[in-house]
Amino acid sequence: MEVEVKLRLPSSKAHEQIAHLLAPSLRATHLQENFFFDGSHAQLSSHLAILRLRFYNGDSKCVVSFKAKASLVDGISRVTEEEEDADVSHARACIAEPCRLPSLDCALIRKVVSDYNCNEFVCLGGFRNVRNVFDWQGLTLELDETQFDFGTCYEIECETTDPETVRPLLEKFLNENGIPFSYSSASKFAVFRSGRLPDV
Ligand code: MN
Ligand code: MN
Ligand code: MN
Repeated sequence: MEVEVKLRLPSSKAHEQIAHLLAPSLRATHLQENFFFDGSHAQLSSHLAILRLRFYNGDSKCVVSFKAKASLVDGISRVTEEEEDADVSHARACIAEPCRLPSLDCALIRKVVSDYNCNEFVCLGGFRNVRNVFDWQGLTLELDETQFDFGTCYEIECETTDPETVRPLLEKFLNENGIPFSYSSASKFAVFRSGRLPDV
């Protein structure tokens, strides 16, 4: 189970303020390209399951991820998540030719194929995300600028086993620095599928 606090930032200004405040503890910046797949008969979406290929910094790495049973309540996201690294060039080829997905050397894909009876896949498209990763009070904060075809969203996320403690800590930090935020009400994937930016 992946548990994250997810707070939406209303503007690039709020995003910049946080990036500036936390600059001394910046650990990494990742350019992520995310592509999503469904079975050709909607086998995954009909079970609210998500299959994603994520490429890091061009072609330096690819991670297959399968998520299901997602909930997002008051800025706290819970979802079952399985991940596995995959061969980058084969994975790239799957975007143009989703029929090649089952032949990826990946136990997680083989499991999805068999569990969901997915022999054919379709690529749903996707979006890019620039993720700044910071060390903060013993936690890892991820500051995201997500670029959809229809606009850009800003979010701060923190993966934790104790979201009820971490969320107020983060809220205090943002409030003390005059940075506006709200609880995220939709996952990035849900925003992508809706085709429009959520209301601020
Ligand atoms: Mn994760
Ligand atoms: Mn996340
Ligand atoms: Mn995460």
